[in-house]
Amino acid sequence: MKKPHWIEKEHLFAGKEYVCSCCGASFDEPWEECPACGVKMKKIKYDPVYVDEAEMLDILLGDE
Ligand SMILES: [Zn+2]
Repeated sequence: MKKPHWIEKEHLFAGKEYVCSCCGASFDEPWEECPACGVKMKKIKYDPVYVDEAEMLDILLGDE
C-alpha cells in the first residue's frame, strides 16, 4: 500500500495545486489531512510534468 502524499502541480498561470494521491481531489494548499477523504499526509511530491509543459511553452513563444 502506498503512503499518502500530496502531488504538487504547478500551473503556468493558475499557481500551485495539490492533488491527493488517495482520492485525487485537488486543493490550492497542502493540508495536514486531505479535506476530501481525511487521510493524513506524509509528504509532498513534485510532479515534473508541468515543468515539461513550461519548457514547451517557452519553445513555442520563442523566449529563452
Ligand atoms: Zn484525499
